[in-house]
Amino acid sequence: MGVNKAEKKVAMPELEANERSRCFAEVALGYDESMAREEAERCLNCKKKPCVSGCPVNVRIPEFIEKIKAGDFYDAYDLIRETNSLPAVCGRVCPQENQCEGKCVRGKKGEPVGIGRLERFCADYVMDHPRDENNKTAVKNGKKVAVIGSGPGGLTVAGDLIKLGYEVTVFEALHQPGGVLSYGIPEFRLPKDQVGHEIDLLEKQGVKIECNMVIGKVLGVEELLDVYGFDAVYIGSGAGLPNFMKIPGENLKGVYSANEFLTRTNLMKAYRFPETDTPIKVGKRVAVVGGGNVAMDAARCAKRLGADQTYIIYRRSEEEMPARLEERCHAKEEGIFFKTLINPVAVLGDETGWVRGLRCVEMELAEADESGRRRPIAKENSEFVLDVDTVIMAIGNSPNPLIASSLQGLKTNDRGGIVVDEESGRTSLEGVYAGGDVVTGAATVILAMGAGKRAAKAIDDDLKKK
Ligand SMILES: Cc1cc2nc3c(=O)[nH]c(=O)nc-3n(C[C@H](O)[C@H](O)[C@H](O)COP(=O)(O)OP(=O)(O)OC[C@H]3O[C@@H](n4cnc5c(N)ncnc54)[C@H](O)[C@@H]3O)c2cc1C
Ligand code: SF4
Repeated sequence: MGVNKAEKKVAMPELEANERSRCFAEVALGYDESMAREEAERCLNCKKKPCVSGCPVNVRIPEFIEKIKAGDFYDAYDLIRETNSLPAVCGRVCPQENQCEGKCVRGKKGEPVGIGRLERFCADYVMDHPRDENNKTAVKNGKKVAVIGSGPGGLTVAGDLIKLGYEVTVFEALHQPGGVLSYGIPEFRLPKDQVGHEIDLLEKQGVKIECNMVIGKVLGVEELLDVYGFDAVYIGSGAGLPNFMKIPGENLKGVYSANEFLTRTNLMKAYRFPETDTPIKVGKRVAVVGGGNVAMDAARCAKRLGADQTYIIYRRSEEEMPARLEERCHAKEEGIFFKTLINPVAVLGDETGWVRGLRCVEMELAEADESGRRRPIAKENSEFVLDVDTVIMAIGNSPNPLIASSLQGLKTNDRGGIVVDEESGRTSLEGVYAGGDVVTGAATVILAMGAGKRAAKAIDDDLKKK
């Protein structure tokens, strides 16, 4: 094996930036069989498997990679799916650099093994080469579990419990399942066909999904337990309540929360309007406030929807940005401008009530704050106006208070998150469990899945004792 080959991942084919920034087609095109086998050969099949300990759902990484080496792609996929119900999703959007790949020994002297890319390859292979799924259903144990929310956390709980013989019903508020995977992360990063395929597999295994069911409004948690006979309820309702800056002008026309902007674009397919029902109005000069993955997604959607100039406005420097490096690079390649060390202080409107600009101040960084990142402070006399006609606020989301406020005795913290025992997801109420973003605040897909796995185990342990 050549030195270069050993040190670098097999490159991921991608749509060229100029082409992709005008459409919603997927950016990363995925490995073909020979690329996957070549990348798999870089794995040393380490005895101690440090990569596995970096994975919150403990995928059997070296074992599935061995299967790829041998060309047994279905077996590789089955091994992944033993512990991860959503491989096509995780292979695309997990921050592997901080997890499995962050621990890979190959990373000490070059690039780690492309574990995420290989996981994605297996999922895509199975979707492109359908087989007769052997949906052996477990012997039913007569117990019923309700899952609130069909995001990655809720789907993981459902997938794990269905295998153990539980009857599982997922109640979803929106008209389509998937949580952020469906309404937030754009098509060009996570095609909805792939999300749909993974949800279909869960349904084939017996998971029931009921959409348009806003728990806390249509039905209460107590009703699920006391009237509908569920033995346990898992709350995985996510963090879908957008935060705003509380600056003047945020109610002007042309100001969006990233949530609304992305939901219109992704879930409602506004980019195909009038073929679809939901329109979206994007101006020519768009400011997206924030530095996370959500901000990158909103900016890249705005560009694709026709904006001439799209800015990321971030109050710290790029070094402190929480967005993944890959997303930042893709955004820049597509022509998004990064304006760092800048903070908006007011949105300015014209006489018709539409946005005409964003008043900002320049920032500098002081010592680190409690988050470990350097604290931004405003520079004196540094105000200026950025000429924009659309502003998208992407400064974080909080848990929606609906369920907690409708359920007596459920403990929450001062950020609105449900208080749980981390190891089990048990809440302050017997029979009620919770996990994912509704507990932690906005985090990641795999952390929500990890919490779901732990809660599924605790539900099983507790119900077996009853
Ligand atoms: C735009 C965007 C991009 C992101 N990019 C990444 C990324 O690249 N990588 C990554 O790892 N993470 C990313 N994240 C974060 C990640 O998507 C979330 O951390 C993850 O989806 C949380 O999973 P969850 O199951 O807890 O909740 P969610 O995915 O939020 O799902 C919760 C579900 O519950 C439903 N619900 C809410 N209230 C009720 C109710 N009362 N009754 C019934 N149903 C209800 C919601 O409609 C939703 O479908 C991104 C987030 C966003 C918004
Ligand atoms: S740490 Fe890296 S090289 Fe070792 S088994 Fe895991 S993926 Fe393979």
